[in-house]
Amino acid sequence: MARLSVTPLEIALLRFDLAAAYGRPPDLAAAVELPVLAYHVALPRRSVLVDAPAYVEADTPEPYRLPGYAAPPPLLAQLRERGIEPDEITDVIVTHAHFDHLGSLERAVATGSVPAFPHARHYLGHGDWDPAAFAAMGRQDLLTVERAGLLELVDGDVDLGDGLRIVAAPGESPGHQLARARHEDDVVYLAGDLYHHALEFDDPELDVAWVDVDAMHTSKRALLERAERERARVFFSHIRGAHRAVRDGSGLHWERRA
Ligand SMILES: [Zn+2]
Repeated sequence: MARLSVTPLEIALLRFDLAAAYGRPPDLAAAVELPVLAYHVALPRRSVLVDAPAYVEADTPEPYRLPGYAAPPPLLAQLRERGIEPDEITDVIVTHAHFDHLGSLERAVATGSVPAFPHARHYLGHGDWDPAAFAAMGRQDLLTVERAGLLELVDGDVDLGDGLRIVAAPGESPGHQLARARHEDDVVYLAGDLYHHALEFDDPELDVAWVDVDAMHTSKRALLERAERERARVFFSHIRGAHRAVRDGSGLHWERRA
């Protein structure tokens, strides 16, 4: 059986204050370290990047900074370490336009900034297109991509061909979207911030403070059902490892997949 190659790229660790995020007194530690992951997916005819985070301390909101933190090599360096040249990327799917999912879509040259993935189509949910917000969070790279004519704003689900799809999953933000890749009978989802921490796996009512709760619950439920039906591997932006949806006596829930 064919198995898609999914490469996680860990770009940063952020401080994540559970009480502030969930609006509840935490049972556990007050704050945890949350990884920031991008993913590369190799399809036979497509080389796909999901999210393009960068760690810039000055652009990281203070509550998310870990004292004394030194980030690993940036995204472009990590891709090259794995033999993936930025020129080869065919598609960049941005799950949503929050600060921790952007920043590496451009690179500096003498005359300014140019797209880091010059041969890729870039996809952002239309509902997240907000240039003033990008400027406020120090994330101008989407504008660089847009000026180069490489950005497409997405409404709803889109079939990009060659086994690659975008699946709308609003809630975290209005334009939040998932990437789905299929090769033969292997299906993977790159599910962004549909879940932020494994605590949300155990409690379907646990939501971070900034989401549209109704939309989020609908999107989470839809992914659980799809993932179970398709026996998919599911990856998240802030939770390491692959997960699958399992049905038992109490219903559908997520399990870490070896
Ligand atoms: Zn995030």
